[in-house]
Amino acid sequence: MPRRSLSAPEYLICCDCESPCYVFEWSEGEVSEAVCEVCGNDDAPTFLTEEQFEAYAYSGAWSYVGR
Ligand SMILES: [Zn+2]
Repeated sequence: MPRRSLSAPEYLICCDCESPCYVFEWSEGEVSEAVCEVCGNDDAPTFLTEEQFEAYAYSGAWSYVGR
C-alpha cells in the first residue's frame, strides 16, 4: 500500500484562510470531515494536505495574487 496517500497527514490546510487545521477525520486517503478553527469552514473538500496545497499552488490553479 502506498503509505504516502493513505496515511493521515499531520495537518490539513484550509483553502479559505490557508491556516493549518488539526481537527479532521481521515479515511482511505482522503478527508472525510474537517473543521477549521480559524474561519469556521467545515467543507471537507476545501481542505488540502500540505502536499496537495503545494502542488495546487505550483499548478497555477491557485488564484491568489501576491505570492
Ligand atoms: Zn479556515
